[in-house]
Amino acid sequence: MLRTALLWASTNPFLARRLPRYAFVRRATRRFMPGETLDDALRAAEGLRGRGAPTTLTLLGENVATAAEADAVTDQYLGILEAVRGRGLDTEVSVKPTQLGLDLGLDAARRRLERMAEASGQAGLVWLDMESSAYVDRTLEMFRAVRQDHAGVGLCLQAYLRRTEGDLEDLLPLSPAIRLVKGAYREPPEVAFPRKKDVDRAFVRLAAVLLEARKAGRAGRVVLGTHDGRIVAEAGSLARELGLGPGHWEVAMLYGIRTGEQGRLLREGVPLRILISYGTAWFPWYMRRLAERPANVWFVLKQLPG
Ligand SMILES: Cc1cc2nc3c(=O)[nH]c(=O)nc-3n(C[C@H](O)[C@H](O)[C@H](O)COP(=O)(O)OP(=O)(O)OC[C@H]3O[C@@H](n4cnc5c(N)ncnc54)[C@H](O)[C@@H]3O)c2cc1C
Repeated sequence: MLRTALLWASTNPFLARRLPRYAFVRRATRRFMPGETLDDALRAAEGLRGRGAPTTLTLLGENVATAAEADAVTDQYLGILEAVRGRGLDTEVSVKPTQLGLDLGLDAARRRLERMAEASGQAGLVWLDMESSAYVDRTLEMFRAVRQDHAGVGLCLQAYLRRTEGDLEDLLPLSPAIRLVKGAYREPPEVAFPRKKDVDRAFVRLAAVLLEARKAGRAGRVVLGTHDGRIVAEAGSLARELGLGPGHWEVAMLYGIRTGEQGRLLREGVPLRILISYGTAWFPWYMRRLAERPANVWFVLKQLPG
């Protein structure tokens, strides 16, 4: 119930305007994001580098309303790539299709992603996030178009969608870099598995498809974006059975979530990348993080002035 309410809140424009005005809500976000500026994010990336973890940066924002806004987002991402190169960081970027203006037109959004892929150079991959199910077809189209000429672009797929198994099979001939996640949006049961147990099973099944494809030379980077220790252990066992060493698959987690588990994986030599989100447009993203673990709401309430 609370999860559904939080996901509803994440798309509510009234709450998006009101809640960020409260200092206690802003204080609570610091647990999952280092700050609102690029400098905050780069400082966090440098700190994580010190602990042996490469990073991915995301500038928060989605569903931009004008082409000018989408162009400005693209320029900011180009700035991130330059800053990352300047500091010698192993840091990639991950962008939402609607932040590049997908609502306004696929071609222009694709061209913006192309500019980013061209600029990424040695800075590693540009990842395309996956948003709610209404965007999946257009996101796949955008990815396919850019992937033809730019190997430096990767795609996020969501295990909770019933369609993902088929989408992955269709994509494998491209040898794509895939980041597999469970999925963070409110979706109807005909589109996404409603039971967590089924989502977890789908994740393990899709991870197996990816690892086997990797073994057969049919997949690029295989990134498992999850904080689920049981799934990471299962994927690790399968990778070992297939004879795939740590260089063949990776885990990705979000900044500030299950930091103990992050430390453990790093100590054990599991390749782990941390995704750092920053920016001022954090409201919908933060609500999705609360929905993933409704107990987080108590943490927000604890920030209320005594
Ligand atoms: C690198 C990365 C990129 C992502 N990109 C996308 C994307 O492009 N599109 C998309 O739809 N989703 C994305 N997600 C979010 C993803 O879909 C899940 O909502 C999120 O990762 C939670 O699922 P889980 O796999 O960690 O498993 P769960 O079963 O939800 O959680 C596993 C464990 O982690 C803990 N945990 C999980 N989330 C939290 C939290 N917020 N706070 C505290 N503890 C938590 C749980 O309590 C549990 O112990 C991304 C996630 C990661 C890690």
